[in-house]
Amino acid sequence: MGQMKENKSIPFFIAFIGLEFVVSWFQKRKLSGRINDGISSLSLGILSRLPDVLFRSVDLISYIYIWNNYRLFELPWDSPWTWYLTLVGVDFAYYCFHRISHEVNILWAAHQVHHSSEDYNLFTALRQSVLQKYTSWIFNLPMALFIPPSVFAVHLQFNLLYQFWIHTEVINKLGPLEWILNTPSHHRVHHGRNPYCIDKNYGGTLIIWDRIFGTFEAEDAKVVYGLTHPVNSFDPIMLQLRPLAHIWNTFWATPGFCNKLSVIFKGPGWGPGKPRLGLPEEIPVITGKEVLFNPHVPAYLNCYAVVHFVIIVDLYTELLGTVTMLSQGTILLRIGFIILSLTSFGLLMENRPKAGILEIIRCLVFIGVYKLGHLRSQFSSLGYAYEVDCV
Ligand SMILES: [Zn+2]
Ligand SMILES: [Zn+2]
Repeated sequence: MGQMKENKSIPFFIAFIGLEFVVSWFQKRKLSGRINDGISSLSLGILSRLPDVLFRSVDLISYIYIWNNYRLFELPWDSPWTWYLTLVGVDFAYYCFHRISHEVNILWAAHQVHHSSEDYNLFTALRQSVLQKYTSWIFNLPMALFIPPSVFAVHLQFNLLYQFWIHTEVINKLGPLEWILNTPSHHRVHHGRNPYCIDKNYGGTLIIWDRIFGTFEAEDAKVVYGLTHPVNSFDPIMLQLRPLAHIWNTFWATPGFCNKLSVIFKGPGWGPGKPRLGLPEEIPVITGKEVLFNPHVPAYLNCYAVVHFVIIVDLYTELLGTVTMLSQGTILLRIGFIILSLTSFGLLMENRPKAGILEIIRCLVFIGVYKLGHLRSQFSSLGYAYEVDCV
């Protein structure tokens, strides 16, 4: 899944996550997801969207540039055929981008963030890469030669929103729809680290591309989710950037210029003397005894993290809503404070010995940034509401 306009989508996400909790409770007598993994997924989702506070969407800028300067002809924006063609075109572009993101190591370094959860629920859908959006836009440009940007923009959002609801275990198979649509069952396979799941089911809205190009696999043995070599961290910066460090180290450790290029452009499982996508027998087998990364933290610390995380989500949504009214300095300070907070929560969830020190520093930074007036709009508006209430 990629980017979406989450300031408008947040109530929709919250409603569906609530619904998933309820259905999961009735099905299994337990809520879907874990606090540590859920906070981690949402933190990665927020982090992935922070650059968009400062820069305009690279998808749309590049698309409109090609449309304005190089379009070959204009399909009528109000024809249903343009609508259907764009739906199929955006989804095919997504299939190509998604497949290449799994088969080229440097692109996988970005995309793997989405696969780093060992759970599978609607929180996982929001777990996104900071870097991915700077590569995905290229795949949409051929459509800019003939499809109007307004129609493209609607379908780009639709494609991404569609992919939200399929990240769930509470929906089983959907009968004949499984032939055409990407469904929760198909996408569970995509998130699996069982050998039969690797490099399968890349579709966004439709599953037909996988069926046509031979990458389809139906859900079979119980899926174990996550990366074949788990990162074992809830630190959002570490989850976003560690794979790049791994490529950097492998690049310098691998002898020969061609081999070094292969480290970057062949599959993540490649090594000298191996096929482009690595050896299937090197994928770790699933024993059923895989242990989730789940450091124990006291219940009060979980409560603390949830409450403070909700405050940060509020600060983030307020930033999205008021960004045009804020100075560059205030925006940067708020972004810095959000990153510091999300990192601190990640380390608390890992129960790291020094996490408490970082959390105290974060609280001191909060006081400092507030005193300097960079957080006040939020609280003054609350104060205003209170005053109105009292009148
Ligand atoms: Zn993927
Ligand atoms: Zn996914």
